[in-house]
Amino acid sequence: MKHTIDRLCSQHSLDRQEYLELLQCNDVDTLDYLRFQAQKATLERFGRDVYVRGLIEITNECRNNCLYCGIRQANKMVARYSLSQATILDCCRQGYELGFRTFVLQGGENPQMTDEWVEDTVARIHSCYPDCAITLSLGERSRQAYEAFFKAGASRYLLRHETITDSHYRRLHPTDMSLQNRIQCLRNLKEIGYQTGTGIMVGSPYQTLENVADDLKFIEEFQPQMIGIGPFIPHAQTPFAGASAGSVELTLKLISIFRLMSPSALIPSTTALASLSADGRCRGILAGANVVMPNLSPPTFRGQYSLYNNKAAFGSESAEGLRLLKEELNTINYNISTERGDYVQT
Ligand code: SAM
Repeated sequence: MKHTIDRLCSQHSLDRQEYLELLQCNDVDTLDYLRFQAQKATLERFGRDVYVRGLIEITNECRNNCLYCGIRQANKMVARYSLSQATILDCCRQGYELGFRTFVLQGGENPQMTDEWVEDTVARIHSCYPDCAITLSLGERSRQAYEAFFKAGASRYLLRHETITDSHYRRLHPTDMSLQNRIQCLRNLKEIGYQTGTGIMVGSPYQTLENVADDLKFIEEFQPQMIGIGPFIPHAQTPFAGASAGSVELTLKLISIFRLMSPSALIPSTTALASLSADGRCRGILAGANVVMPNLSPPTFRGQYSLYNNKAAFGSESAEGLRLLKEELNTINYNISTERGDYVQT
């Protein structure tokens, strides 16, 4: 198996069966070797710097009914909110003062936040903070909308494909959503010139390791600049309330595989990983992640962006807790970088 890992290091590619064998492998020495190689690749490319992004959760209104998501439209127990442009700009101002040079605007698919409104919001942030990168994560929109946001100043877009297996996709989503449209959106984003991020939830209901091997091949071929992977965590007011959370160990293994597949990629150590395990964020960094996304949303709304239960949003997971995050990363000899941290192909 070590030969396989060496080949992943040198060629950044394996065939599906080899990915599957790596996913099935539980040998401690092999997994240590995988993590060691991934950490080495990260250090060679990024040193001990971890990029920070200020995450602004702009709305929990959503027209979709993804079966796993706590802010799905059918959840009537969640108090809905949408941030005004003024509040979003205020979050950016606070973030800028704290040292953030990337703002990530994430939200449900809220029809009231029209394409024109998003375009205008991006343009305003861009004119106030021209030295900052603007990342959007607002779901599936038309190609024209993506083009308009790009022209207004957004340069990165996060849209996890969730699973590349159509039969699995259909078990996670209602019939009015389609994997085909999601993949088309990703292709559009990349063609327009966005640094594009995709990814999966690890351990989503019905997911098999064969599905994950197919996701690895898809990501290897698609070559996104950002790869977002975090464990699935159940939410009490969804049809998957009784499902088990995804595995922290498998998430860490996948971070290492993705790092070796794509040495220059921006890979976050996700909030879901930190929510599931007290040392999850640091273990994600040690496995090969190089980005963290502290929460810059107004504290009063953070509890309402409840994608899953017990989501971390305060302390070192928050923008105001940057000092705590710095201390946490220092314990593993890593530092916060306030550079924009754009994707650079080597
Ligand atoms: N609406 C946008 C979209 O579809 O990309 C962005 C918001 S969506 C809530 C952001 C991500 O949250 C999804 O891509 C999904 O992977 C993740 N997510 C949703 N529910 C989750 C859960 N129960 N556990 C872990 N991650 C979850």
